Amino acid sequence: MKILLVEDDAMIGENVEIALMDEGIQVDWARTAAEAEHRLASAGYDAVLLDLGLPGKDGLDILRDLRAHGTTTPVLVITARDTVPERVRGLNGGADDYLVKPFDLDELIARLHAVVRRSHFGEGTVYRKDEVEVNLLTRQAMVGGHQVVLSAREWAILAALLARPGAILSRSQLEERLYGWAGEIESNAVEVYVHGLRKKLGHGLIVNVRGLGYMVERA
Ligand code: CA
Repeated sequence: MKILLVEDDAMIGENVEIALMDEGIQVDWARTAAEAEHRLASAGYDAVLLDLGLPGKDGLDILRDLRAHGTTTPVLVITARDTVPERVRGLNGGADDYLVKPFDLDELIARLHAVVRRSHFGEGTVYRKDEVEVNLLTRQAMVGGHQVVLSAREWAILAALLARPGAILSRSQLEERLYGWAGEIESNAVEVYVHGLRKKLGHGLIVNVRGLGYMVERA
């Protein structure tokens, strides 16, 4: 998971960055509105953590521009403005959720995971194909009614593929999902985790599209 953090406050930004990285989440930190807009234009993020009180430009304007350009990346607004009218303005501007400062870092992470999952699936949506059943909201995988335990990296690969069944993800796109965890990524990491997933979930689930990458078929 890759997140853009937009926050001008050094101490809050640092705390959030450390907490997210501890969770294995890759973080780009933009300290100004201009930097945020530059990064949003060039990189794909799973979610944006957006502070509203930025020098020079209101975070709500960044949000509105983002939505006006058709970007559906989930945005979790972090703000000191805890009044109801501000919250309503943010929701109308296209925010997916809110956290009012000061916030608990565990709550931030939980809400972040929730908005990302909701953006990939309808809430609680389950992927079912043949014997396999995967619920990414609860992170449960079953084969023939029996629960299967997957590693965090196997989950990362599976979640990326299941976010868009029928779409082919290249090896480098899948490798990106593995960044952020501690340790080096071996050059054959994707193959290793796909192999592990196939052993646990059956060989039919993940299809190797020769020369292009991997996909799961639509349920
Ligand atoms: Ca601020």
